[in-house]
Amino acid sequence: MVASRTPLMAGNWKMNMNHLQAIAFVQKLAWTLKDAEHDYDKVEVAVFPPFTDIRSVQTLVSTDKLKIGFGAQDCSQHDSGAYTGETSAEFLAALDTKYVLVGHSERRTLHNETDEICQAKVTAALRHGLIPVLCVGETLEQREASDDPASIAVAQLRKGLENLPADAEIVIAYEPVWAIGTGKVATAAQAQEVCHAIRVELATLLGDERAAGIRILYGGSVKPDNVASIMREPDIDGALVGGASLNIDDFSSIVRYTQ
Ligand code: PGA
Repeated sequence: MVASRTPLMAGNWKMNMNHLQAIAFVQKLAWTLKDAEHDYDKVEVAVFPPFTDIRSVQTLVSTDKLKIGFGAQDCSQHDSGAYTGETSAEFLAALDTKYVLVGHSERRTLHNETDEICQAKVTAALRHGLIPVLCVGETLEQREASDDPASIAVAQLRKGLENLPADAEIVIAYEPVWAIGTGKVATAAQAQEVCHAIRVELATLLGDERAAGIRILYGGSVKPDNVASIMREPDIDGALVGGASLNIDDFSSIVRYTQ
């Protein structure tokens, strides 16, 4: 991590916790971090609950003036219309949603989301002022078959960011699919190698200055006991945390990894 980029610790809840559980969780997380005198200017915190929780989280965060941010786990590439079951970035923006995950590997695998769809979702998110968190990463088969494993994430990045507007704020999450929910965390060196390749590609696409300001998160079995070593790497600016983000003690330890 480089000091000029504020780290982001993001909790991807996946399809866990209803809106009542979400309220209790966010309240308790805020208290825990307050007791620990967490400095949100040093490490930003955001949760990514299911769609049905977002209104409740928004109300809690705005009423209690909490510094915990929130994002959605997906959005439609369309703004409105005959798309049964979809949720548009416009609707999310109306709930003050700050971030939206795009192209999480579970969406790519279980919902056949292609790089083209991801690109359209990045554009839709930006159209409505959301910050897309574009997720990229290779499967185990792809890693084993390649002599340049970073090239898979880099290719996804290139396609996902096609026609990116010049002033767009984005976050990238490198999540090797083989490390998600498996307990098999990438070594800090493996994670850094790919995150560095991503930054080099960002520089090619957007210029050195913009690339230096974009946060790249690592995700895949991040836990309190491995977060510090991952965060020591120069191109890693935070974590996208699945399983461990559902436990207050674990997630608050991850958030407070340096303190
Ligand atoms: P995990 O999930 O931390 O449970 O491996 C990460 C993710 O899918 O974002």
